[in-house]
Amino acid sequence: MTYRSVYVHVPFCRHRCGYCDFTLVAGRDDLIGDYLDALDLELKRVEGVVEIDTLFFGGGTPTHLPPEALRRLFEIVLSRFRLASGYEFSVEANPANLSLETVDVLAQAGVNRVSLGAQSFDSRSLAMLERDHRAEDIELAVRWLRRQGIANLSLDLIFGVPGQNLAEWRETIRRAIELQPPHVSAYGLTFEKGTAFWTRRQKGQLEQADEELERAMYAVAMEELPAARLVQYELSNYAHAGFECRHNAMYWSGEPFEAFGPGAARLIDGVRQTNHRSVFTWIKRLQSGESPVGETDPLTAEGRARELIFVGLRRTSGIDRRIFESRTSLSLDALAGGSIRRQTSLGLLEDTGTHIRLTREGRFVADSVIAEFL
Ligand code: SF4
Repeated sequence: MTYRSVYVHVPFCRHRCGYCDFTLVAGRDDLIGDYLDALDLELKRVEGVVEIDTLFFGGGTPTHLPPEALRRLFEIVLSRFRLASGYEFSVEANPANLSLETVDVLAQAGVNRVSLGAQSFDSRSLAMLERDHRAEDIELAVRWLRRQGIANLSLDLIFGVPGQNLAEWRETIRRAIELQPPHVSAYGLTFEKGTAFWTRRQKGQLEQADEELERAMYAVAMEELPAARLVQYELSNYAHAGFECRHNAMYWSGEPFEAFGPGAARLIDGVRQTNHRSVFTWIKRLQSGESPVGETDPLTAEGRARELIFVGLRRTSGIDRRIFESRTSLSLDALAGGSIRRQTSLGLLEDTGTHIRLTREGRFVADSVIAEFL
């Protein structure tokens, strides 16, 4: 099967937020020119012009690039890919650096979906997360994007921020809903090894939100967002009907996709490849005519099937036995019948006969339920 989706990683930010472990360089705008040249080189392996349905620029912060560099980035990529009718072209943006000029560049390039890293409307939480924007910047960004005709907006929110209480999280949800975005992502804060937050927690300088509070916050998201027609369609994602992110849905269905940029991972012909995660090494390798690939993982049929279970259980619609078997040529019950029965008897999984899916209770402990299937 040929791919119909492309991801491009843009590894630049002004500053690295304390909780972030993404592939990026902070405060190294001097590398933007080399990055664009290297990306152009990496894209040379695309033969001809390929038609695709979804294109996603993530980071880092793509909108951290100055308007001229952003324009060049889009030109480089769109010279290799043609967007099919009804396409979805998404860009991640930071409210802190979204100027009117940048919004113009997005609109002119054909961007029709923006995922805005709002994270919180509460100044204490924004400061704790080391974000460099204010709540007013989020509102202004939404206004500018809509004025340029980009109405398909997602607001990314984070709960479980150290020091954040339930009332503050409720208020963040309320202000997000007030802006009427057709899509919201709400993630619990995680402490990843290697981040500044991880180190601060180890040293006792930062206290992680306790489990009960985090559970209450997740429950608030699962109640308040659907009440505003933002239906939960994945553990952390909510959308108005027809505004579910198609690019992410493609990942969750196990479809093939291409990817470019440092740390970018692709899935082609059942093989997962990940580019080198160091921005410097990725640039150097491309400059010297070497492959930028850091890891290659030819997935076994069973490995692919287990990945499909992993992503399928994250979707509220769950896993359709018939589709699963047609995609993997493996029986879901032969592979995981014992786990399905056990989790169903615990009330964490629902088995309708045609589908298995997490129950509401199962969503609170999704990581441990899903881990049993891996
Ligand atoms: S803005 Fe986003 S990508 Fe950049 S450092 Fe902060 S969390 Fe990471």
